[in-house]
Amino acid sequence: MKALSTSVVVVGSGSAGISASFELYKQKIPFILLERGDKVGGAGKFGAHGVFAINSKQQIAKGVTYDYQQAFEGLTEYNHYFVNGELLSRFLKKSGANIDRMTEMGLSVTVEQSEQEAHLNDPLVYHKFNNFKDKMNNWDQLPAKFVEAGNTVLTETAAVDLDYENGLKAVIVEDKNGERTRISTQKVIFADGGYCGDPNMMAEKYADSKNLLNLGERKADGTGIKLAKKLGADTNHTPVLFAHGCAPSLQINPMRRDSSVETLTNLPLFWLDQTANRFVNEDIVYDFAMWANAAHNVGGKYYVLVDQKTIDTFKTQQVNLKDTFERQFCEVGETPRTTVGPLPNIQQDFDDAEKTGEVVKANSLSELSEKLNLSLPALQRSVDAYNHAIDVQDDDVFLKPTDELLFNVESGPFYAIVEHCAILGTLDGVNVNRNCEPVREDGTPIKDLYIVGNNVNGLYSDGYPSYEGIANGFAFVSGWIAGEESIKSLKQTKMEAL
Ligand SMILES: Cc1cc2nc3c(=O)[nH]c(=O)nc-3n(C[C@H](O)[C@H](O)[C@H](O)COP(=O)(O)OP(=O)(O)OC[C@H]3O[C@@H](n4cnc5c(N)ncnc54)[C@H](O)[C@@H]3O)c2cc1C
Repeated sequence: MKALSTSVVVVGSGSAGISASFELYKQKIPFILLERGDKVGGAGKFGAHGVFAINSKQQIAKGVTYDYQQAFEGLTEYNHYFVNGELLSRFLKKSGANIDRMTEMGLSVTVEQSEQEAHLNDPLVYHKFNNFKDKMNNWDQLPAKFVEAGNTVLTETAAVDLDYENGLKAVIVEDKNGERTRISTQKVIFADGGYCGDPNMMAEKYADSKNLLNLGERKADGTGIKLAKKLGADTNHTPVLFAHGCAPSLQINPMRRDSSVETLTNLPLFWLDQTANRFVNEDIVYDFAMWANAAHNVGGKYYVLVDQKTIDTFKTQQVNLKDTFERQFCEVGETPRTTVGPLPNIQQDFDDAEKTGEVVKANSLSELSEKLNLSLPALQRSVDAYNHAIDVQDDDVFLKPTDELLFNVESGPFYAIVEHCAILGTLDGVNVNRNCEPVREDGTPIKDLYIVGNNVNGLYSDGYPSYEGIANGFAFVSGWIAGEESIKSLKQTKMEAL
């Protein structure tokens, strides 16, 4: 086996890993950054649009009064007290300064109104990347800086094991050809992004894992969580899926926004679960996390049901409904559209999607029930009840607002879009203390290890909250904390040795 040595190994170069590396770089501590992919990045680079913070300079300048007390108590209550209070506190208290630190890293953000219609009137806590492409480019430039300062960045190289006996001896890594290297080191920071890329872990935790549309970092296979557990770390926690939005399939990728089929799924139309029952007020489409949770609650899959008349209306007319993702794909300062359509390609898009299975077309409800394996009486009952709500402009069960009660489902052909709960990752893993050190069940830390970002338990009880940017904000801040704490510990060891 080849051999290398350094003071700290950082595993993963997404939000948490790049942030931890930046701290080590700034404080001139030698480190090796490992990245399984062929470029640095992770979900933080290719996916995230912003970060949460309180008390940033930008917020203060705008007179935002939402403060530590409101955020701390709000998140604690929201999660029914299933939180790691010390960790939550430390994250919140550093979140404001993290905004300036991100600018220093070349990853500037601006405090903006929420991207989600449901949260437009929430306090200004969301800081959005000024320009998505610039963010990606600037991220890619950080390794050169690290290397210039004498550090090492190894891409296509994954951490696979630890040599640990009364303390860390080495991290064992493997490159894409299967060749192993032993990196002797004093500290390791696991910033490898959770476990959504490990189908077995996903199946163990989520009964609907097969129906979930994984838009997360698939290279994240739970390495850090598994290795910490092997060393005795407490990993007990309710599974926390980072469910966020819904979409038909990876072919109709919501990130590309190029299919009318996807557009119709972003509106509060008529939804049925896999038992042919309506299951939620479709207006929830305007709150990404809750929308996805509603889908997760009915087995991760549901149908958007429309008839030909609705398709024809969208083809030629502008409809007074907002596309829930409209704001997300506007750059800072751009004005979002508040209507949808006309969608001249809609028929073609639906016909194409029918061929690939994202849309199921039928001339009658009975044919549709057969094709989707749904109970016809249940389907007929749901359709009748929905049409009645449209007729009388009163949804007395789910209470959808009247200005969204627009399209009944009357005569064929009928189209059912097969919609999946989308996930951006996982948010449970290892119990840690306020310094992001993994702890055993008795609370004692496993020394020399740090666990950060999506690998950590303690911020969420059972699902992602409607506080935009928390996951990514926490990833950056927890990487920063682990960087600082590892340096502190290295210095202390050095002092003790003198
Ligand atoms: C499409 C999308 C949109 C998102 N939007 C938002 C948003 O707007 N706001 C928000 O708060 N959050 C958002 N998120 C979530 C946010 O991106 C994550 O919470 C955050 O990136 C987590 O940081 P991380 O460092 O833990 O993981 P990542 O950023 O995913 O980084 C993990 C890295 O570790 C690497 N890795 C994995 N295993 C190994 C190994 N064994 N060895 C070496 N490297 C390894 C991976 O390749 C990856 O580069 C979004 C996520 C996605 C997918």
